[in-house]
Amino acid sequence: MKTKEKVFWHDTVDMPMDRILNDLPPKVDLAVIGAGIPGLAAAYQAVKRGISVAVLEAETIGWGASSRNGGMVLTGLKLDAGVVEKKYGTELTRQLFDDSVTSINTVEQLVIQEGISCDFKRTGHLLLANKPTHYEAMQQEAEWFSKHFNYDSRLISRADLPEEIGSDIYFGGLVDELSSGVNPAQYVVGLAKATERAGAFLCPHARLVQIEKMHDGFNLKTVRGELLSSQVLVTTGGYTGSATPALQRRIIPIGSYIIATRSLPDDLAKGLIPHHRMVFDYRHFLNYFRLSADNRMVFGGRAAFFPETSSTIRSSADILHKEMMHVFPQLMGVEVEYAWGGTLDFSFDQMPHAGQLDGIYYTLGFAGHGVALGTHLGMRMADAILDGTVKDLPYNAYEFPKAPLGLYNGKPWFLPLIGLWHRILDWRF
Ligand SMILES: Cc1cc2nc3c(=O)[nH]c(=O)nc-3n(C[C@H](O)[C@H](O)[C@H](O)COP(=O)(O)OP(=O)(O)OC[C@H]3O[C@@H](n4cnc5c(N)ncnc54)[C@H](O)[C@@H]3O)c2cc1C
Repeated sequence: MKTKEKVFWHDTVDMPMDRILNDLPPKVDLAVIGAGIPGLAAAYQAVKRGISVAVLEAETIGWGASSRNGGMVLTGLKLDAGVVEKKYGTELTRQLFDDSVTSINTVEQLVIQEGISCDFKRTGHLLLANKPTHYEAMQQEAEWFSKHFNYDSRLISRADLPEEIGSDIYFGGLVDELSSGVNPAQYVVGLAKATERAGAFLCPHARLVQIEKMHDGFNLKTVRGELLSSQVLVTTGGYTGSATPALQRRIIPIGSYIIATRSLPDDLAKGLIPHHRMVFDYRHFLNYFRLSADNRMVFGGRAAFFPETSSTIRSSADILHKEMMHVFPQLMGVEVEYAWGGTLDFSFDQMPHAGQLDGIYYTLGFAGHGVALGTHLGMRMADAILDGTVKDLPYNAYEFPKAPLGLYNGKPWFLPLIGLWHRILDWRF
């Protein structure tokens, strides 16, 4: 069978949500730009608190990373807690990691409350050491969590790894039982439906092209006409573009790619990831993988750094297939049915950011951790906008940096250099 260049999750749900084609409302209290997980979660919370909300989406609802990701609902941030602590101190680090843990409950509550059928399961996650030094770093991380948090993650020695994974290439691992798995397309579509039911205007095919500041709000020019809004929240992730140039200069769009095999027989699947955990390794050029509800191996990685095109998807699918064979030689001969890509939003400090710039609110920089945190922070941001407490958010306590020396206008010419640097880091550590 020929591999389909298509998102597997999209075949499990009524996607894309093209049918919602209402006119833009003339005026709202809050306009959210981007209909991904954080944008929809913010709109959901804001409309529930009684204000009028429009969500403007350039493509279709949930079109971006939010429906294409690995569906890993993870605790933690992109950076290790120890690294964050060195930069920002113990108290802020504790607040951020506390929030990341709470975010799993936020997703679960939303799923239950709104009856979103999306295979949400408390599977836990497994972080794998590609080298002995990685395992040492995991031991330090586990100690940090235990000391500052009274939070127990479980170290798995190399000898005990067969209980967790059917691969002998790793040097140990760390299990966090709180993390979960979800079908991301079903989740984002369910969230969109709940947001619409609550009363928000969802406006697909309404790309924002310009924001004009007025004396009492903003005039938003879209490809489908204009609307007035008292407040604007930008949640455009890795697709942040020239309509918000100050934010575009702070976000690096980085490609991530996934392949999915055909459904595996139960005994084969069980031998690969016995507890259905969400799995990822410790490298900068990392691999992440999991089983879908119908037992497909969904295997992703940062195979190419550039955002998705037909050619990067094809070349990444070949690289990922080789990686998958290296991890799981048991899958030799199993057809890969799907291959796709999406774009991640990295900030220059690899931290998530939420705040206000030139009067416009934003939540950006999830760096591959936006399913759980995007939901939670989206909702927190809506509350903070309504309560006037955005300044107090921990995600606003540190600078949202631009490129060093300002050498970036939104076109990431330096991606090959970052790729090379990450390969060097993976080789050295
Ligand atoms: C392949 C892949 C795997 C991933 N795996 C995981 C995972 O397992 N776990 C995890 O936590 N995270 C993962 N992530 C990251 C996660 O998907 C995101 O962090 C999360 O979905 C938050 O997305 P977002 O809404 O910020 O961005 P997106 O979902 O990309 O949404 C942004 C939206 O903004 C729209 N937009 C852009 N410009 C405009 C404009 N001018 N006007 C109107 N709309 C506009 C875009 O069309 C897009 O739909 C992964 C990402 C990718 C790409």
